[in-house]
Amino acid sequence: MPVLDSQPQDPNSASRPAAAREAMPEQAQPVRGGFFPSCSNPECATGWMHLLRSRSVPIFEGGWSCSAGCTERRVEAAVRRELEGRSPETRLYQHRIPLGLLMLEQRWIDAGQLRRALEAQRSSGEGRLGSWLVRQEGVSEQLVARALGLQWSCPVVSLPFHDREAMASALPRLFLDAFGALPLRMATRRLLYLGFEDRPDPVVALGVERMLDVRVEPVLVPDSEFRAAHSQMLSAPFPRVELLEVSSEAQVARALSRVVEKVKPVESRLVRMRDFLWLRMWRRLSAGVPADAAQVEDVVCAIGRP
Ligand SMILES: [Zn+2]
Repeated sequence: MPVLDSQPQDPNSASRPAAAREAMPEQAQPVRGGFFPSCSNPECATGWMHLLRSRSVPIFEGGWSCSAGCTERRVEAAVRRELEGRSPETRLYQHRIPLGLLMLEQRWIDAGQLRRALEAQRSSGEGRLGSWLVRQEGVSEQLVARALGLQWSCPVVSLPFHDREAMASALPRLFLDAFGALPLRMATRRLLYLGFEDRPDPVVALGVERMLDVRVEPVLVPDSEFRAAHSQMLSAPFPRVELLEVSSEAQVARALSRVVEKVKPVESRLVRMRDFLWLRMWRRLSAGVPADAAQVEDVVCAIGRP
């Protein structure tokens, strides 16, 4: 009987220092069956042959794949998973007490202020009620932020809280504008504060949570502080990002898996953030927000509404 190499080939061993292996989140560990590394594509037909292939990467969502074809199958399944159940319209923000009423009830404004701010908003056809109250009625921005916090049951924080250099590797830069989201700081190794200007976006928070494998706490930041922090953060060092233009689901999967094959990350994940698919690839393993933007590389792909 022919004897196979008795030394199990760990796909990690070549490229991964022990410390980094430990820092890796549980779910990102490569899938292995028995002694031998096994391809994470459930339909893989390569069998034992893949042991002859000397590749330890790429790793996609914790699983090693033996060939470009197998990577593509796995990315395809992930794209399908992320796009499943997408609704044409998301109405998340119903049934909230209107901000003006809430402030009136708290006696933070009077009926005259509310009426004038509503009229100004209506006649100009733009702006949020809160900013009209601040601009025209002299209501303090902190008070409006506090009211928004009550409205959304969400904590309000202020600018000194922001750790922008360290936070720039949390998200692709374009998400700051697309979602009005600002990564503020890590509270512990497992908790990230994500700032929003006028209302927290639970869908975006969940997407970041899944991608970085940390708990995300959405918080509100008062208007002018948010804008200042936002524009300062744009000059921080963000991870390299590639924007993909594709039209069909099959094309998305093919294009993304091609990038994974090219970059050969030690871990990569796919998450949908509203109308974007976000692929993140780790060049070096890290848990939570990467310490350095060069450790990761992002691909963002706009997807149309169903
Ligand atoms: Zn395979």
